[in-house]
Amino acid sequence: MTDSSIKTQCPYCGVGCGLEVSPPAAPGKAVNRDSQGNPVWKVKGDRHHPSSQGMVCVKGATVAESIDRDRLRYPMLRESLDQPFRRASWDEALDLIANRLKTVCDESGANATCMYGSGQMQTEEYYVAQKLLKGCLGTNNFDSNSRLCMSSAVAGYVQSLGSDGPPCCYEDLDLTDCAFIIGSNTAECHPIVFNRLQKHHKRNHHVKLIVVDPRRTPTAEVADLHLAIQPGTDIDLLNGIGYLLLQWGEIDRSFIDECTSKFSDFAEVVQHYPPQEVAKRCGISAKEVELAARYWSESKRVLSLWSQGVNQSSEGTAKVCSLINLHLLTGQIGKPGCGPFSLTGQPNAMGGREVGGLAHLLPGYRSVSNAQHRQELEHLWQLPPGQISPSPGRTAWDIIRGLETGEVQFLWVVATNPAVSLPDLERVKAALAKSPFTVCQDAYYPTETTAYAHVLLPAAQWGEKTGVMTNSERVVTLCSAFRSPVGEAKPDWEIISQVARRIGFGNKFAFTSSAQVYAEYVQVTRDRPCDMTGLSHERLLADGPTQWPCPDRGNASPKRLYTDLRFPTADGRAKFSACHSQGLAEPADPEYPFVLTTGRLYGHWHTQTRTGRIDKIKQMHPEPFMEIHPRDARTLGIEDNQWVEVRSRRGIAQFPAKITSAIAPNTVFVPMHWGYLWADKSEANALTHPKSCPHSLQPELKACAVQIVPL
Ligand code: SF4
Repeated sequence: MTDSSIKTQCPYCGVGCGLEVSPPAAPGKAVNRDSQGNPVWKVKGDRHHPSSQGMVCVKGATVAESIDRDRLRYPMLRESLDQPFRRASWDEALDLIANRLKTVCDESGANATCMYGSGQMQTEEYYVAQKLLKGCLGTNNFDSNSRLCMSSAVAGYVQSLGSDGPPCCYEDLDLTDCAFIIGSNTAECHPIVFNRLQKHHKRNHHVKLIVVDPRRTPTAEVADLHLAIQPGTDIDLLNGIGYLLLQWGEIDRSFIDECTSKFSDFAEVVQHYPPQEVAKRCGISAKEVELAARYWSESKRVLSLWSQGVNQSSEGTAKVCSLINLHLLTGQIGKPGCGPFSLTGQPNAMGGREVGGLAHLLPGYRSVSNAQHRQELEHLWQLPPGQISPSPGRTAWDIIRGLETGEVQFLWVVATNPAVSLPDLERVKAALAKSPFTVCQDAYYPTETTAYAHVLLPAAQWGEKTGVMTNSERVVTLCSAFRSPVGEAKPDWEIISQVARRIGFGNKFAFTSSAQVYAEYVQVTRDRPCDMTGLSHERLLADGPTQWPCPDRGNASPKRLYTDLRFPTADGRAKFSACHSQGLAEPADPEYPFVLTTGRLYGHWHTQTRTGRIDKIKQMHPEPFMEIHPRDARTLGIEDNQWVEVRSRRGIAQFPAKITSAIAPNTVFVPMHWGYLWADKSEANALTHPKSCPHSLQPELKACAVQIVPL
């Protein structure tokens, strides 16, 4: 690191690559400029970061270009959505928010207020939000866009292993004999993880790579076995592999007997999944099912990796549990090179989970429905007994429903863009338009969601504030500020604390730095599975990124969880959670004969709030498209690049067709990144539905039934 460079973490995906950032003009060197001639901070990979060793993808490499573009620079207000915004002072805006919050709480109760946050928030920002809403106000109505991303992984880990927290680490990518990637286009969405895995795969001919995905993605292109299953048949496949492993006796009997429970339930369920039957349901051959099971049985160390293709499902938790079942069956957990490893979507979604950033959670991997957990936090936060509500708060979709019914009267959106990312967008926009009072706290303006705001608060973003993020392998990185916020922007933790002080909680929010917030936060993790009491900003600055658990008792913790094969369940055993496949919530039918599946592209991030403002990425992915199989294109008379209209029961969107055999017949694919600001009429989520997993309450954003009409 040069004297003037700062170490931080990439603010995009959950791989959490380390970055080194230095000023646009180093002494004696030419000024670094973007394509428009503006000075841009220089970004390169941090070779000393344990998770990425200097590697970055195009998103991380170009992130600094977005810092100054289209920023929200000062607070703005308006009485109603049909009025223009007017500039306001921070005092006026914060007083207005505090007064409105107090009035709504007094007149309608705290449950009429909601905050909807994001995996972009730093841990300190999540923490003050939990303390304000769940602690001081007494409502659990804080949910985040992790509900759309990782909540099935959270629920699956808790159900099977007793706690959230991926048990693996990135070193396992170098040690595995067989990587089983399901529901993840890792090459495009977690590229640095994939690069590392691919290197290991190329160098070691015995290593197998299995990819389960309805599309032949760049990830599937290099697989030894690509299982292009029909959308919604993941559990059939997983149970089918379990059936064969059991039949062949390729199981770890002593692990099952000593470390697990409910094995007989699992054995009963999987007997209904013989390979011929599974092949028929999945749309693949029985030989392919057998080969997947054979690869699994011949490998001593199977590492499974998954992401939104599994999580964004009306049976997302069941899918996660079905995958973990295979690891329990073969004893492939708690050891190097193996285990069930969820790839986190966002840069600090892991931090958000640790700090309770979902409507059913409390900080320190606690649950709102657990009386002891509530008491512990009431004690730590010096709140009266019973202050924390035992009822889970509103999830992302429940907030929309609450706006529709009028039960939600105050909505505070932080660092996310629900007017693009939620399903059934027309319904979402109509609900947002009904909101009596919405605060949007964001770095950028405009976004699709700012159109529905009464108050805009300018947030400092990555590089303008100091705070902590946790990546997919539980490595905590201090992200140091390297420049001042633009205009009057402030860090989210400071904005939320200022509102809290204005409504009378000054003694609990007297923080003057994010380091102070973090010092308080780590104390609430004491003796919890995610114990971080040994961490502080000072230590992270001195020692660099550090993996949790990291208690203050000195000894370094193992890199992997559950190495002693004891699990944080009541009996210390991991639990087989056997599930039958239910299929898609909205399968294709004669009226809507195609299954639409959605996903992400290499260069873009979520709703393009940043990447849509970066020239290189815009050139890589200039417009949305719809992939369709040549057979279906022929049947419908569609030519390459011809515009088509895609219709679902909820909405309509238009795309140019991309004819490719990479997508299976009867299935079409569209990327999810385009909101109406970037491409009018090409919103993927105008088509999707909100039916959700009953356990994780994560919507099935990955699939819905559609018609295709050539234009
Ligand atoms: Fe950033 Fe993810 Fe790319 Fe790493 S892989 S540079 S964390 S977007």
